[in-house]
Amino acid sequence: TVLMGIESSCDETGVGLVRITDRGPELLGQAVASSSDEHARFGGVVPEIASRAHLEAMTPTVHAAFANAGVAPGDVAAVAVTSGPGLAGALLVGVAAAKAYATAWGVPLFGVNHLAGHVAADTLEHGPLTEPALALLVSGGHTQLLRIDDLATDITEIGSTVDDAAGEAYDKVARLLGLGYPGGPVIDRLAAQGDASTVRFPRGLTGPKDARYDFSFSGLKTAVARYVETMERNGAGPDELQAAVPDVCAAFQEAVIDVLTAKTVRAAQDLGVGTVVIAGGVAANRGLRELAERRCTAAGLQLRVPRPGLCTDNGAMIAAIGAHVVAAGATPSGPHLTGDPGLPVNVVHAA
Ligand code: ATP
Ligand code: MG
Ligand code: FE
Repeated sequence: TVLMGIESSCDETGVGLVRITDRGPELLGQAVASSSDEHARFGGVVPEIASRAHLEAMTPTVHAAFANAGVAPGDVAAVAVTSGPGLAGALLVGVAAAKAYATAWGVPLFGVNHLAGHVAADTLEHGPLTEPALALLVSGGHTQLLRIDDLATDITEIGSTVDDAAGEAYDKVARLLGLGYPGGPVIDRLAAQGDASTVRFPRGLTGPKDARYDFSFSGLKTAVARYVETMERNGAGPDELQAAVPDVCAAFQEAVIDVLTAKTVRAAQDLGVGTVVIAGGVAANRGLRELAERRCTAAGLQLRVPRPGLCTDNGAMIAAIGAHVVAAGATPSGPHLTGDPGLPVNVVHAA
């Protein structure tokens, strides 16, 4: 059985095709179109531009996914679509398209959760998840620790950011350093060239009385801004500031990944789970992947992280969670399925 997944919650239009097998979803092919270049000069995603771009990219992306997968529309037995969370107008384009395809092909439609999709992407690469597992979801809009008892039906949030998401922190720090949008990939690259020990930035919510599983990144972002301001006030010229950027990126990244990995390992140990999944756009980060691997190995935990192309938004991850939901025997979503910008992570399948 082939399932098509459609993603349009932010600035990527993604379409993925998977085969549903006894061992879970198998990726046949996918295509992604991004409007991120159109948002770059604004330093962040502009919702109206994103919606318009989805509208233009949807049909060509569906066609490209079929071409890449080597299957035909007649092979599709179900359609899954991101119903939330995300930008209202952007979600609506994907939901409308999914309804149109499902109706035209006479197949059932399943509204699914984007965040569960990020976690499910890993099963395309590493096979069935050993449950219960702990997931660290780190993306542009979310930073959460999730207990996964069943990927399709039973996800519980045990902690989250109290202010900025990790990806948001990357994007904001990149903007203040004049590095453009999105900030994650460029900071990741510059950090590898810098020396993290030049300055120690604060680790949010790591005091003895702080919430064990919650995160905070806005103080870190402010500390980076202060550091650059102080350099300027002390007479640093453009060349000197430019030369300091890799070190600042390295120190910022070190602070982010130190907190993320420390809290994840501690949560896994507290819950007594043996498997950790890291998912979402920030999971593409090389520094995070390396440190997580080291700390999980030291703690005797099995770590799973999807390849970078499956971490950032894509349609394959939506097809993957759709396949898990279908395999769990879910009832198809009704004709009134709509986009829900605030869909909570525990609602994996939207009616
Ligand atoms: P959400 O999933 O919360 O709705 P989103 O879909 O916009 O948000 P993703 O596409 O999952 O987010 O991730 C995008 C974020 O990941 C951006 O903030 C981007 O800067 C960040 N990111 C991408 N690559 C890297 C990287 N190599 N290192 C760090 N961050 C990265
Ligand atoms: Mg994006
Ligand atoms: Fe996402």
